[in-house]
Amino acid sequence: MKTIFEKTNGNDGINLTDKKLNLDFLPSEFVRNGEIGLPQLGELDVMRHYKELSDRNFCIEKGFYPLGSCTMKYNPKVNELLASLEGFNIHPSFDDDMAQGSLELMYKLQQALLEVTGMDAITLQPSAGAHGEMTGMMIIKKYFDTIGEKRTKVIIPDSAHGTNPASAKMSGFDIVEIKSNDKGQVDIEALKSVLGPDVAAIMMTNPNTLGIFEEQVEEISKIMHENGSLLYYDGANFNAIMGYTNPKLMGFDVVHLNLHKTFATPHGGGGPGAGPVGVVEKLKDFLPTPVIEFDGKKYYRNYDVKHSIGSVKDFCGNFSVLVKAYAYILMMGKNLKKASENAVLNANYLKEKLKKYYDLPYDEPCMHEFVITGERQKHENGVSTLNIAKAMMDGNAHPPTVYFPLIVHEAMMIEPTESENKEVLDEFVELMIKIANECKTEPEKMLTAPHTTPVKKIDEVTAARHPDLKYTD
Ligand SMILES: *Cc1c(COP(=O)(O)O)cnc(C)c1O
Repeated sequence: MKTIFEKTNGNDGINLTDKKLNLDFLPSEFVRNGEIGLPQLGELDVMRHYKELSDRNFCIEKGFYPLGSCTMKYNPKVNELLASLEGFNIHPSFDDDMAQGSLELMYKLQQALLEVTGMDAITLQPSAGAHGEMTGMMIIKKYFDTIGEKRTKVIIPDSAHGTNPASAKMSGFDIVEIKSNDKGQVDIEALKSVLGPDVAAIMMTNPNTLGIFEEQVEEISKIMHENGSLLYYDGANFNAIMGYTNPKLMGFDVVHLNLHKTFATPHGGGGPGAGPVGVVEKLKDFLPTPVIEFDGKKYYRNYDVKHSIGSVKDFCGNFSVLVKAYAYILMMGKNLKKASENAVLNANYLKEKLKKYYDLPYDEPCMHEFVITGERQKHENGVSTLNIAKAMMDGNAHPPTVYFPLIVHEAMMIEPTESENKEVLDEFVELMIKIANECKTEPEKMLTAPHTTPVKKIDEVTAARHPDLKYTD
């Protein structure tokens, strides 16, 4: 595909260097004399160019997107409309008096998130899940510093998302990894063996990244609290439990949520996200500032928080993301519980349908996602999980998350979300059965997939070793 510069055809666009423009008000040294070198195309040519670009991309509006742990649910378009309402287009430096509507929205979003998490206080400031994790770990660090306890270690199960150890380490902790047991859950004996007075916290994901609910979570909470330690809940995968249970009931002290997963705000491509962090009462005074409060008459930003870790993002966070999440929550109401129900049902349906064709390392009822492995295909037919993932693209499905969690070889982590109906799930099952058969009958075809996408099989080694990042004619 040509770049827009190559497509320049002399059709007149707007000429920004047009001498007829009155630029007298600008100092002459700042006025450009020559051509700016922008492409010159008519509006239709520009529209075709960007449409062609977007057609080369995959999105949920185009097909099934079961990217495990990423919760690629459908993001209702009305949320975009609401986030672009003129009243929300307000400068964050406005006085509280002039920003009552926006502050009210944030306050009410906080209340809703406190309700689903069971926590006592919350900040909306962090702009991603990992950012939320780091905020939570900084709160835990400051808490122990303030009460005068020297605790340097954070325990993390081997199934955890890679951001967990990164966040804990960046907040100044040492990481202690513990193995999962044969049910894919935290091994209590392994946990007890690493406990000591220097352990600050455990970071857990529940349901964990295998999509399995940690059945012993209450016991783990008891063990940790008796040790004087805290429990951090990675709530990026909250989609499985809304309205059924919450981290407070499970015994957690700090939790982050990914609004750009569970609460239907768009994500991917590094776009804006939001990772609010909820805490129990005793950690309330450590939240980042400003904290958004309501005194019965007025909503306001409170900068006077006793032990605050400081600000982790400018102003109040990614406001437009917050508007979209709040719109989604209002639209769903009690149906949030139904969303979790259907997310779990869809995942279990797919798991049961696929387990005959692919190995299922942990054959347990799953929550919002499950992990299968392509080990059989790899050993019997020489077709790796990466090849299978590429072949799915020929069937108009986005590949699942692959080679994660690290504890399962040739892992494929599948999360259908609640957005999909049975027909779509059945089509995916058909596709996966076809691929499993073709692994046996036409393994060579698998090795060169995808065959129908705009960009075919990529030479990943060369791309990594000799990246060609510069465009040249
Ligand atoms: C997505 C995810 C994260 C990180 O969230 P980002 O917004 O990408 O930083 C952390 N933990 C789990 C389990 C996740 O699925």
